[in-house]
Amino acid sequence: MARYPHKAGVYAIELIASDRIYIGSSTNVPGRWYQHRLHLKNGTHHCPKLQYAWTKYGADAFEWRILEELPRDCSKVEILAREQFYIDSLKPWFNVLPTAGSRLGSLDVEATKRLKSAARRSVTDLVTHCPRGHEYTPENTHLTKRNQRICRECARLRMAAKLATETPAQTSARLTRGRDYHERNREHHLETTAAYVATHKAEKREYDRIHRAEQNARRRTTMTDEKRARNAELQRARRARLKEFV
Ligand SMILES: [Zn+2]
Repeated sequence: MARYPHKAGVYAIELIASDRIYIGSSTNVPGRWYQHRLHLKNGTHHCPKLQYAWTKYGADAFEWRILEELPRDCSKVEILAREQFYIDSLKPWFNVLPTAGSRLGSLDVEATKRLKSAARRSVTDLVTHCPRGHEYTPENTHLTKRNQRICRECARLRMAAKLATETPAQTSARLTRGRDYHERNREHHLETTAAYVATHKAEKREYDRIHRAEQNARRRTTMTDEKRARNAELQRARRARLKEFV
């Protein structure tokens, strides 16, 4: 005999101290709960909202309850009907799909994908601040190619921390590395920049306008003949170095 008796029924996974629940059903509720816990622990749960809350609040923040126990020989259709009843009356916040049993394959793949990506977006909407508490405003958000958000304020802080501990030799090595890299990949950079500008025209134009103005203002106040000569010298040295790569 199994250690835990199989129980068929409709269950709820409840985020304690909130009205947010997830509703599911199974012919073997303890077995299904085990699967849920495994996926949540591994970060691979199919329900993005539940996964997000689990990651954020931890396992102890959840309560597992059987809403209605059904006979073991109950058919899947009957179980789904009972699940649907609870979904309709309790409107569970965590459930991505408003129809019970859609994961059994009755729903077409594209529709599921759309629903899932909508749910993922709404999870992103939930997170309005970075882990350090800066708000993800448009100005403070850098979107990566994979649409991940990077907090610009944190990036600035990271850079500042790095610069604060850098020796002058490290600074010049870093700058040289960056400049050489860009020179070597000039064509590639021009291409990617053109592609980016084509898709982010307005954004890029605004960014350029602000930064060009800032840069020019900075130049006007700090540029001296001495600096200009040194810059020219650096550029000559760089060109000479680059001849090695050609
Ligand atoms: Zn931040």
